[in-house]
Amino acid sequence: MTAKPIHRSRDQLLFCVAITLCVLFVSCSIKAKIPTLSDDRLEHLLRSEAERIIAVSEDRDNFSQYQFFLSDFPRRDLFGISIGNRQIYISYRLASIALTDPAQLWLLRQTVAHEIAHETAGHANRAGIKQVNSGFFNLGGSGSDLGLPWYVRLYNYSTDKELEADAIGLGYWNKLGWDCGIWVRILENFQEQNYIGDRFHPTDKRLQQAQNICKLHGDEKSSERSAPSTGNENPRSSSQVN
Ligand SMILES: [Zn+2]
Repeated sequence: MTAKPIHRSRDQLLFCVAITLCVLFVSCSIKAKIPTLSDDRLEHLLRSEAERIIAVSEDRDNFSQYQFFLSDFPRRDLFGISIGNRQIYISYRLASIALTDPAQLWLLRQTVAHEIAHETAGHANRAGIKQVNSGFFNLGGSGSDLGLPWYVRLYNYSTDKELEADAIGLGYWNKLGWDCGIWVRILENFQEQNYIGDRFHPTDKRLQQAQNICKLHGDEKSSERSAPSTGNENPRSSSQVN
């Protein structure tokens, strides 16, 4: 008499396992997408800023392959994310404020340069991370940071790659003639507000590196100025805004 219930519970267990596996397969096959928002003015701002940066990057011939999206990330300190294949998501909130606030426009430019640098450095591809339609993203934390379902696993770039993206991004700023002191001041401002960043974006290390690179660029410029003129120097970029 006791055999039957045992069989039944084993059958039930197998049934439950089968159902769970089905649910998992279905979950994995759902194309997870970061929620995006549409706004013509903000999209125009984002694309025009990105175009200027890409024009001085290694990807200057591939601007048309870039896709930019605006997203209202639930995590407030998240300004941008690159997921490989030249797909970049930027905080809708940041872009909105940047439209009218010049200081925030520079934060947008820093963010866009940093994210483009992740792409040109091939960080997503180098890490062998699967792309968005596989439900994997390159960011530490939980899916809810991006407004994604709980089952989406997030991968982060290493701190080294984050610092590398900053260094490359600062190189683009330098080529554009943008003041690297502004980049430094943004990070100093983070520190003044006691924003230490996160494990992968430590404000102190980012600031220290930016100060070093900025000094290097300053030294290069002063040695250029003191070098004898050849009469063939290119004029400063006409796109310089600051
Ligand atoms: Zn990054």
